[in-house]
Order: sequence, then structure tokens, then C-alpha cells
Amino acid sequence: MALIVQKYGGSSVADAESIKRVAKRIVDTRRAGHDVVVAVSAMGDTTDELLDLAAEVAPIPAPREMDMLLSSGERISMALLAMAIHSMGFEARSYTGPQAGMRTDDKYGSARIVEVNPKRVREALDEGAIVIVAGFQGLNDDTQDITTLGRGGSDTTAVALAAALKADVCEIYSDVDGIFTADPRVIPKARKLDHVSSEEMLELAANGAKVLYIRAVEYARRHGVLIHARSSFSAAEGTYVLGRGMLNPRESEGEVMEEPIVAGVATDLSQAKITIIGVPDVPGKAAEIFQIVAKSGANVDMIVQNVSAAATGRTDISFTLPKADAAAALKALAGEQADIGFESLVHDDQIGKLSVVGAGMRTHSGVSAKLFEALSIAGVNIEMISTSEIRISVVLRGDELADAARAVHTAYGLDNEIEATVHAGTGR
Ligand code: ASP
Ligand code: MG
Repeated sequence: MALIVQKYGGSSVADAESIKRVAKRIVDTRRAGHDVVVAVSAMGDTTDELLDLAAEVAPIPAPREMDMLLSSGERISMALLAMAIHSMGFEARSYTGPQAGMRTDDKYGSARIVEVNPKRVREALDEGAIVIVAGFQGLNDDTQDITTLGRGGSDTTAVALAAALKADVCEIYSDVDGIFTADPRVIPKARKLDHVSSEEMLELAANGAKVLYIRAVEYARRHGVLIHARSSFSAAEGTYVLGRGMLNPRESEGEVMEEPIVAGVATDLSQAKITIIGVPDVPGKAAEIFQIVAKSGANVDMIVQNVSAAATGRTDISFTLPKADAAAALKALAGEQADIGFESLVHDDQIGKLSVVGAGMRTHSGVSAKLFEALSIAGVNIEMISTSEIRISVVLRGDELADAARAVHTAYGLDNEIEATVHAGTGR
């Protein structure tokens, strides 16, 4: 008998029928003899609808009330799910995040979990009940107010519960079959991965893969939680996300798997590029520029500085950032143009970012050469390059991203023979 934490995303509990289907799945797990704790998201697009509603009544809703509002979405689904389980003859109890012992800091809208004390969850389990916990929410001890964990936060709720309860596995259910070597909507020949390391998963998620949320993967890595990402629409096994030193549950004990050189290809169309032209090439300019950009609230990703032209003593600096941050960054920089002494600013929101991720890169050479060769054969121009220990990213034209990704996926031998079935879903 195991203790299993399951998380169901909004698309898995979108309506009454889906809730009954999920209830059956939970009951089946219970019938197999396991203790089950469930973290559930709000039904379908509830959170988005609540956000729209708030925007209709106030231009800038108060963060405290916003969290009060958004946390209600998960309370609806948790109670309905418990009722559906009751009607199948099983005992189930739903708890809000605060009732389940989720304590957070005071950052409304993106609170971090600081402590989990699942006393009531344990008691309910001991009494033989299935436990349903509202995802995405907690309580700040200082203010005694409800907080939410940021979009997609139910993944983190599930992982935090799994860590606090020392669960055997944290199953994260969505409407996709697991983690793929690429987004199957972009690359139909993407393959489902049997397992992926948490460090690879973090790089994939940070570079455009949307199946799991970064914070949840980080939490799992820190606390040694085994994640199994799988579909609530099929019985097939999904993908295990393995932390440091964890064995793939599907491998026999002691069998050491060779790490793939490349685990996957991630694509991201959500970034823009800003180029600052004619920056005086003297010490301190980069510091000045990026302090201004940071103050504007922008989250900078890649940075490239050209060699300066000897004749002018000036250089160009380009960087990428989320499209949504670009306007504020441009305004802040323009305001300091005289002080910094640059010539002009160029804003480009038609870029795409392609990243190749794999832990095996550490020990294999030629990985980047293969990437550049594939792009060259595909006739794709590279505008920026950045690397980490286990990732190579390039910026290119956004409208070439899909073709480029397909070429690269093929070049690394990742293509499946058959095309992946893509459900209509969103991956949540
Ligand atoms: N309902 C929240 C959202 O849509 C949390 C979640 O789904 O994980 O972001
Ligand atoms: Mg949702």
C-alpha cells in the first residue's frame, strides 16, 4: 500500500461529467489499496473568467481581494469532487488550502509556500477518507489572509503535500500524455519521454514547455518528490520526473540508465528583443543599462554585446525579455538616453527562441555543432546564442521557429515513427 498524491488540472474537471470521471479514477486508486490525497484546480477556465470579472468591476483590483476571489475557483471543484466520490460509496473530505495546512508568505498573487502542516489531512487519511485539497492557495500567518500561488499553482500544492506527507509519488494529471521531446502541436513526431531528470525538466519549462510549472519542479527537486506527469484521459503511464539520485520506477533496481544527450527541444514565442544601438564602450554602461531595465520590472533572459567598432568606440547591446515587459523597459531606457549616451533603441517582437536541452551535453561534444548544422541546412539565420551546462538556445525569426524546431528534432534523432495524438487540450 502506497500514499499517492494526485493533482487534476482544470481541463480534467471542466464539467460534471469530467468530475465524475476523475472521481472514478480516484476511487480506483483507493480500491487498489492506496491512501489518496488529491489536489484539484478550478474547473476549466474558471480562473480566467474570474480574472475577467474582476477587471470589469475595477481597473486595478486590490491584490487581497483578488486572491480571495481566485481561491474560490478551487473550492468549487474540491467540494464537487468530494460529493462525486461520496455518491460512489466512498468517504471523502475536502479542505481549503489553509485547512490543509498550507502556509505561505504574504505575496498576494504569487505567494510562496513556507510551511506545510497537513495535520487534518493525516487525520482524515487515518480515518480511511480520501482527502481532496483545493490547489493554488494558502494562508499567510501574519495577516491571516488567503493567498494564491500564481497561475498553475495547483502543481505546487500537490508537490508540497507529497513532500510533507512523504508520499510515494505525486501524479500530475492533465490532458496531455506526459512530457514530450517537443510540443506535439509544433512537432507531430515528438515522442513521449519515459523519464526526464528534474534539472532537464526545469530547463525545458523555463524555455517554453508548459506541461509542468517551474516552481513545482523546483519544489520537488528540493524535497525529493517523485513526479509522474500523465493524462487523466487515458490509463497509459506518463513521464517520471526524477530528482537527483532517484531511480526510474520502471527500471529494475540498480540498473543505471545512460542519460540521453538531448532530452528535448523547447520552443518559445513569448519573448521580444530590444537592441540598444551605439552604447559608449566604457566600463559601467552595462551595469547602468541593466539596473534601469531591472527597475522597470523586466525579467531579462539572453544578453549579447557586439564587439565595438574601433572607429567609434561604440557597441550594440541586445537582450530578450517577455513581450509583456518590453514596453516598460523601453520607456525606462528612453528616459535615460542622455545619461547613458546611446544612439537609439530597436524593439523587435517577432522573434522565436529554440532551446535544446539534455544532461548528456556535459559529457558529449559536438552537440552545438549539430544544432547549427541543422539550422544551416534548413536555411535559418541565428540572431543570438546562449548556453548553460545542459542547454543551448538560439533566437531566430518567429515565423521560422516551427520549421527550425522540426529540423533540429530530426537532426538529434528524436523523431517518432508515428505522429503523436494531440488532444484538443491546453496541457493543463
Ligand atoms: N486555477 C489556477 C490557474 O488556472 C491554478 C491551477 O490551475 O493550477 O492558474
Ligand atoms: Mg487552471
